[in-house]
Amino acid sequence: MSLLGSEERESPSREALLVVDMVNDFLEKGAPLQVPEARGIIPHIEKRIREARSKGRAVIFVSDAHEIDDKEFKKWPPHAVEGTRGAQVIETLRPEKGDFTLSKHTYSAFLGTNLESLLRELKVGRVYITGILTNVCVFLTAAEASMRNYEVIIFQDSVAALSEDDHQFALDQRSRVLKVNVS
Ligand code: ZN
Repeated sequence: MSLLGSEERESPSREALLVVDMVNDFLEKGAPLQVPEARGIIPHIEKRIREARSKGRAVIFVSDAHEIDDKEFKKWPPHAVEGTRGAQVIETLRPEKGDFTLSKHTYSAFLGTNLESLLRELKVGRVYITGILTNVCVFLTAAEASMRNYEVIIFQDSVAALSEDDHQFALDQRSRVLKVNVS
């Protein structure tokens, strides 16, 4: 039994789709940290989620959930305070039964969360990443997944940043430095 377990861990065959930070405080017009470009990727992420569910990929929403006096608010305007509407995934992409939702407290979806143990439990070997920001949370999550030896694929039409330069720079770094696939 334990031997079988370790063999399975060596060749994890499942796939997961991560949806990073697609919450009201980043998506709504007038929100303090709105990312206008992110509104354009919603239909693409919707399609990726549908596709993931139909292919049996685990769909994992990882979203900011901050304390009201979080230190991150010294760097960014307050956003996604835990328990508020702003911290909820936007209605269009609403998680369904069978999906997973995780709260994160900083940029990386791995830091201080149980994402790694969830991926291990689900026997995931390949991770597809969507969401925002291309150069911050998506980039650092991709980097951490890559360092943990997951195969990582970024869906280029399903990530966005605050500027085109940031977006392109991050995609470029990802494929050239992290060797993460951009699809
Ligand atoms: Zn944040």
